[in-house]
Amino acid sequence: MARIAAGEAIERPASAVKELVENALDAGATEIAVDVAGGGLDFMRVADNGAGIAASDAELVCRRHATSKIGDEADLERIVSFGFRGEALASLVAIASLTLATSDDDQGHGWQVVYQDGELRHSAPVARQRGTTVVARGLFATMPARRKFLAAGAGETARIAQIVRRFALLHAGVQFSLAAESRLLLRSSGSGRPDVAAGECWGAAVRAGAIELRPSERGGVALSGWIGDRAATRATRAGIVLAVNGRPVRAARLQEAMERAYRPLFPRGRHPFAVVRLECDPADVDPNVHPAKEEVLLRGEDAVAALLAESVREALASATKRPDDDARSLSAGQLSLPIPRLGSGTSKGVREDGTGYGATDTQASRALSARMPRMRLVGQVQRTLIVLEDGESVLLVDQHRAHERVLYERLLAGDHAPAAQALLEPMVLEVKPHEVEQFHARLTQLEALGFRIERAAGLTFLIQAIPVVPGSASSLRVDGEVLQEMTLPGDRWRDRLYTAVACRTAVRRGRDLELPFVRQLVYDLAATGAPAVCPHGSPLILEVTGRFLQRQFDWA
Ligand code: ADP
Ligand code: MG
Repeated sequence: MARIAAGEAIERPASAVKELVENALDAGATEIAVDVAGGGLDFMRVADNGAGIAASDAELVCRRHATSKIGDEADLERIVSFGFRGEALASLVAIASLTLATSDDDQGHGWQVVYQDGELRHSAPVARQRGTTVVARGLFATMPARRKFLAAGAGETARIAQIVRRFALLHAGVQFSLAAESRLLLRSSGSGRPDVAAGECWGAAVRAGAIELRPSERGGVALSGWIGDRAATRATRAGIVLAVNGRPVRAARLQEAMERAYRPLFPRGRHPFAVVRLECDPADVDPNVHPAKEEVLLRGEDAVAALLAESVREALASATKRPDDDARSLSAGQLSLPIPRLGSGTSKGVREDGTGYGATDTQASRALSARMPRMRLVGQVQRTLIVLEDGESVLLVDQHRAHERVLYERLLAGDHAPAAQALLEPMVLEVKPHEVEQFHARLTQLEALGFRIERAAGLTFLIQAIPVVPGSASSLRVDGEVLQEMTLPGDRWRDRLYTAVACRTAVRRGRDLELPFVRQLVYDLAATGAPAVCPHGSPLILEVTGRFLQRQFDWA
């Protein structure tokens, strides 16, 4: 396996588990069982059925190659924070009691070594099957400050779960299990099918929506994997697994690129599920990053980010139920998005054991489009909100964002081509020298959107007409932001322009609305693909449940 990080760093139990699982994978294991207690501080065991280690090497692999003696806690800190290349086991010996039992034959002959306080205490034959088991007890026992710090946070088991889950998702052909305090937290079947692994790690809802990315390549980087559909979201980025050459990494820019492709269909603060693998020449990965942070830099990261964003958009587009939709990946498909609910308690407390991710949210939002037209329209309050009643629930709808969503999707669908309205006086638009060619090439497309723009001279263009968006509340005010979206490099400009146009022509907050208009708006909103979120990604519906009211009022 290509090495990315500069060395191993055992800075916490989760990083030890990661190293041990990587060793097992390196040894070609098809079954890997992880057990921990006390967040891994008290006990961790990683057992595999890989190639095993020759008896004569069992001591050697636990020994530090460098001659430096470990003198005091400062030395330990150094190992813990920076690690040493190829010395994960040796580092573990320095900070824990370690037992390693291994066999590399099929006759049941194995070897076992036991280290305590950094010293070899036992080295003898043992009967066992092919494979390796490493047990570490009392991690950081000689480093009270670190141990206390780690024990104070209850999250270490969750971190370990996340690491094992990532490996299970990336290595669908390997059967993983994880137990904490003897309770099974995760089990994958090793079926070899990424979608099955997704179901095992993240639940049936995520599996059902998994969309395969078309394998592609650019600049020496090959990309493959799958992404979740727009219905499955979660509140953290823990559902995004990126791997470079099989090794899970964090790469903030790539993550951002991917998330941008999901916008504007996700509410702010929600994140997708995805497992993306990048394969490249290890020389193109910058190893000059802290190993424990798993942060990597790729050469040509911008190109990789663009490729990733394109692939995600393409996959999302292919998953919508409109074959005539080609480039419009963001159009109304069978979208459904979580509605923030007061009092449902479902979006909080996402469980780390792999069940229940977003399932309730998804169901709630699926039901929304169907429910909305049946609801009783109470009216408008505060010149801002539309109030709907449905059984036990009260729904509050932000009138501006709701209208934005409706207009945005109308523009996307393109079935009512906006009429062009000639301006009495043309607006002058100056573009920058590097933008001029691209902008000029866009004029025909802009015309289809209702903008009539002519090139005057050099960098100067004249806007002669602007679109009249059907159903809009006010005429378009072309401001700096609209102009900016028009000249935006890349392929995002159209969505961004639609969003800006929808925003500027939607009914504002603070305006009295006629009831027929409100009723139509609710119907139109229910018909959109993402009725719970505005094109900028902000929530637009808040559901106040009966249960919430009951609790707040203390109704019996
Ligand atoms: P590295 O993995 O960087 O070589 P480690 O300290 O993690 O360093 O492991 C040292 C060596 O011990 C490995 O190179 C490998 O030969 C052997 N080894 C460790 N764990 C296993 C395992 N689970 N199965 C087989 N061999 C192992
Ligand atoms: Mg290793």
